[in-house]
Amino acid sequence: MTTGRVGTAESPDPRIEHGLAALLGRDQVLPGTVAEFLHDATEERGIAGWADAIVLPRSADEAAAALAWCYERDVPVVPRGGGTGLAGGAVPCGGVVLSTDRLQAVRSFAPELWRIEVEAGVRTADLRRRARENGLLFPPDPGAAEQSHIGGNIATNAGGPHAFKYGTTGAWVTGIEAVVPPGDVVQVGGVLRKDVAGLDLKRLLIGSEGTLALVTAAWLRLIPAPESAFPVVAFFPDLETGCDAVGSVIGNGVVPAALDYLDEGALRLAARSYPGQVPVGAAFAVLAEADGSEAEAASVRDDLVHVFEGSALAVETDVDRGALWRWRDGVSLAVATARGGKVSEDLEVPVERLADAVRGTVEVGRRHGLTGLSWGHAGDGNLHATFLVARDDTSGQQAARRARAELFAVTRALGGSISGEHGLGLLKREYAEWSRPVAALQRQIKAAFDPKGLLNPGKKLPPDDPGSGPRL
Ligand SMILES: Cc1cc2nc3c(=O)[nH]c(=O)nc-3n(C[C@H](O)[C@H](O)[C@H](O)COP(=O)(O)OP(=O)(O)OC[C@H]3O[C@@H](n4cnc5c(N)ncnc54)[C@H](O)[C@@H]3O)c2cc1C
Repeated sequence: MTTGRVGTAESPDPRIEHGLAALLGRDQVLPGTVAEFLHDATEERGIAGWADAIVLPRSADEAAAALAWCYERDVPVVPRGGGTGLAGGAVPCGGVVLSTDRLQAVRSFAPELWRIEVEAGVRTADLRRRARENGLLFPPDPGAAEQSHIGGNIATNAGGPHAFKYGTTGAWVTGIEAVVPPGDVVQVGGVLRKDVAGLDLKRLLIGSEGTLALVTAAWLRLIPAPESAFPVVAFFPDLETGCDAVGSVIGNGVVPAALDYLDEGALRLAARSYPGQVPVGAAFAVLAEADGSEAEAASVRDDLVHVFEGSALAVETDVDRGALWRWRDGVSLAVATARGGKVSEDLEVPVERLADAVRGTVEVGRRHGLTGLSWGHAGDGNLHATFLVARDDTSGQQAARRARAELFAVTRALGGSISGEHGLGLLKREYAEWSRPVAALQRQIKAAFDPKGLLNPGKKLPPDDPGSGPRL
C-alpha cells in the first residue's frame, strides 16, 4: 500500500490543485489551505490537518473523475461531509479533501411511498424537515443535525436519542450510490425494501468512515410521523436507582422512542437551563419519550410514569418537548464551558452494565485528578464519557489522554466497545483491539475496495503495525 504523493504540511503540492482545476474547472477546486476543510469537531481537542487541495464536485461523475485523477497519481483522498465528526475521520493528513458540500439535490421524493433519494450533501435537519412537512419521519437524529450531511451520517452510521426505538442511520438506507476506486460510480441497493441478491455491499459501506468509497447519494426509507410524542423526565436520588429504572423500563416491555440519561456531574452543569424543575437532591436524570398514535403514546407515557414513580424523586410530563430536546442538544456545550474544554468518548456497554460504566468514568477521572462525568443514550448502553479539561491545560490534557486509555480498558472489561456512535477515525484506531483473523478480514475488505490504500488512509482500520501510530 502506498501513502501517496503529496506535498508537506508546510508546503502543499500546487500541482495537485492545478491538475484538478484543469480537470474539473477552477470553481470546483480550492487551495488546500482553506481552514474550514481541515478539521472536524475534534478541533476542540486541538486536532487539525492539512491538504494539497479541496475538491467540491457538483455530481457523482465529477467526484469519480477527481478520484480517478488522484488514484492514478497515488494521491490520498479524504471524503468529507459536514465536518461534525468527533473522531477526526474527515481530518486530512495531506492529499485531497473530497467534499459533498455541493451535492445537495433531492433527486426524487415519493411521500406516498415513504421514500426519498437524496444526494450525500443534504443536511440531516433539512431532510427531517422535508419529511415532516409531508407528514413523514426520518427518525435518525444525531446532535449536530443542522450541519451534518446524510453522506456523513451514513459513513458513521450515526445514531441519536431516538435510535433506541428506531435504530441508527443504516436502518433507514435501502440503497447507496458511491464512487469507488479507481474512479467508478456504483449503485448498491436502491428503492427496493428487500434485496438479498449478492453480498450486502451497502451494509459494508454504512459506517465505513470514508475508507471504502465516497457516498454520493442514498435511497432512504421514511415512516408516517407519529401522531403524538410525549416527554417523560424522571429524576433519581442516585445512579443505581436511575439505572435500575432504565432496566425496569426494558424489563417491563415498555418501548419508549428515546431513553437518555444525565449523571450527577452532567446534570449539575446543565441544570440551570433545564426547561422545567430539577428537584433538590437529584443525582441522575432519565429523559424518555413516548410516541405513536395519540392512544399509544399516552399508554406508553403512563407506563413510563408508573415504572419511574416507584423510585424517582420527581417525574415530569408537562415539560415542553421541543425545549427538552434543545436542552439535551446543548448538554455537550454546557459541560464543555464549565472548564473551557472537555475530552469526551462515545463508549458502548451492555445496557445492564451502564451503572458500572458511569461510575467507572467518575472513578477513572478521579484517579487522574480530573472531573469525570457522562450523559448519553441509556437504553442503548451508550455513554458520552467525559473529562473536564481546559484546551490550554497541557498537563490536564496529558492526564486526560492517560485517563481515556484506562477508560477504554474499563469498557472492554465490561464487555463494551470503545465507540458506539462516532467511529474510530484518526482518534481511536490505535486503541481498538481486533483478533488476528478479524483484523485480516478487515484489511482484505479494505484492499478489495481500495487496493492502493488511498481512501482516508490512517483511519478506522487496524494499523499494519499496531502501536506505531499516534495515540491521540
Ligand atoms: C454537537 C454534536 C453532537 C453530535 N451528536 C451525535 C449523535 O447524537 N449521534 C451520532 O452518531 N453522532 C453525533 N455526532 C457526531 C457527528 O455529528 C456524526 O458522526 C455525523 O453523522 C457526521 O456527519 P458529517 O457530515 O459531519 O461527517 P464528517 O465529520 O464530515 O465525516 C465523518 C466521517 O465520515 C466520512 N464521510 C463523510 N461524508 C462521507 C461521504 N459522503 N462518503 C464517505 N465517507 C464520508 C469522513 O471521511 C469521516 O470519516 C455529534 C457531533 C457534534 C459536534
